[in-house]
Amino acid sequence: MTPLRAVKGMNDVLPDEVGRWQRVERAYARSMALHGFREVRTPYVEPTALFVRAIGEVTDIVEKEMYSFDHRGEALTLRPEGTASAARAYIEHAVHGREPVTRWWYTGPMFRAERPQRGRYRQFFQVGAEIFGDEGPGCDAEMIDMLVGFLNELAVPGIEVVVNTLGGPSTREQYRAALVAHLTPKAESLSADSQRRLGTNPLRILDSKSESDKAAVSDAPTLHDFLGAGDREHFERLRAALDALGTPYSVDPRLVRGLDYYTRTLFEIRGAHDKLGAGSTLVGGGRYDGMVAALGGPSVPAIGFAAGLERLLIASDLTEATNTVDALVAPLGAGATTAGLVLARDLRRAGVRCEIDTRGGSLKSQLRRANTLGARIVVILGDSELAENVVQVKDLAAHTQDRVGRDDVVRAVALRLADDTARMVAPAASREPA
Ligand code: ATP
Ligand code: MG
Repeated sequence: MTPLRAVKGMNDVLPDEVGRWQRVERAYARSMALHGFREVRTPYVEPTALFVRAIGEVTDIVEKEMYSFDHRGEALTLRPEGTASAARAYIEHAVHGREPVTRWWYTGPMFRAERPQRGRYRQFFQVGAEIFGDEGPGCDAEMIDMLVGFLNELAVPGIEVVVNTLGGPSTREQYRAALVAHLTPKAESLSADSQRRLGTNPLRILDSKSESDKAAVSDAPTLHDFLGAGDREHFERLRAALDALGTPYSVDPRLVRGLDYYTRTLFEIRGAHDKLGAGSTLVGGGRYDGMVAALGGPSVPAIGFAAGLERLLIASDLTEATNTVDALVAPLGAGATTAGLVLARDLRRAGVRCEIDTRGGSLKSQLRRANTLGARIVVILGDSELAENVVQVKDLAAHTQDRVGRDDVVRAVALRLADDTARMVAPAASREPA
């Protein structure tokens, strides 16, 4: 029988890689806690209408990337992103009535039917956050600066922050008209998608990856020419705050991003271009002051971002100590196995990660096992040791072997592990999610 395989674009993460994932997840959770964000968990499936309303009808996600299905008459979708669900939950639980400002973070799988390639999958993971109830620009700057700190902590090389402002709805309307006027005479040179979008969502043409579209927009008017005084001041204050924080950034007046609901502040963070190439966008974020109201909630300003976890893992130069346990208990013979079980439990109670090779087997094969597990310490228990109530503590990093009384084993092992200057760290730099 042909073995079944995982769905195309959806990956297994095997235990060898999970250590790096957890390291990034822990760093993120810690950074979030330091900034006063609390974790929210929302369902992976939502009404399709939520994403259509929140993301916008004429967007890549809604037009062609959603996993939507009908279940007993309900139109449902596997979530393609996290902001819409967070906003829905925020409204549904009337959080604005209890908290003037709400800071939420989330992580989990997202689903988009895209063409799989390096850093682009059909099930992928995001970490993200939202701030509801603060119209910025201080919290916008704080969010960007926090992300730069997080990416630095992950040792992501070549971090570039790009910011822009989209102004408010009236700016968008005026700019939309100017852009259509600029592009209509060139309509024939546009890609098929962009020709269609000229009539539906012309701003998205700025975001197109097609070379002919890029050429057509290269001399288009910029949105900045249409900003109102309030929008302009908001952006100036954002820039002043980033300057004060020493957060490096550049301004790209043509930066627009996929989702329809953005207003004012918009940003992207790229990095590790050598490893990710064209897909080097790690984080995308922006302000969506009108979205909560558009979803039927109160008029509450908000800003958020999302980062792709797989891309962060490819981008990060962090390596992870790959040892599975610190110690292996190696009993030689059946009598020693029982004593070994007790010893292993004692070690674990003292916080030593420990495995026992209950298959017994030769010392040589158990030492091989210790190597595979990355165990630094091997506690050897033979018949003669058992008779004398001692063990051999072998330190594979320090190349020593000591005879230790049974009652002193836990302390001896813990002491050796506390001095981790000789700790074995297998480089994991070449590993990345498939
Ligand atoms: P792109 O232009 O690369 O398609 P996007 O604008 O669709 O990105 P967002 O919706 O803003 O991306 O998602 C934020 C981040 O999530 C991206 O910067 C990226 O790191 C990650 N991401 C988005 N889509 C995928 C995917 N299909 N596979 C892996 N990561 C993804
Ligand atoms: Mg996309």
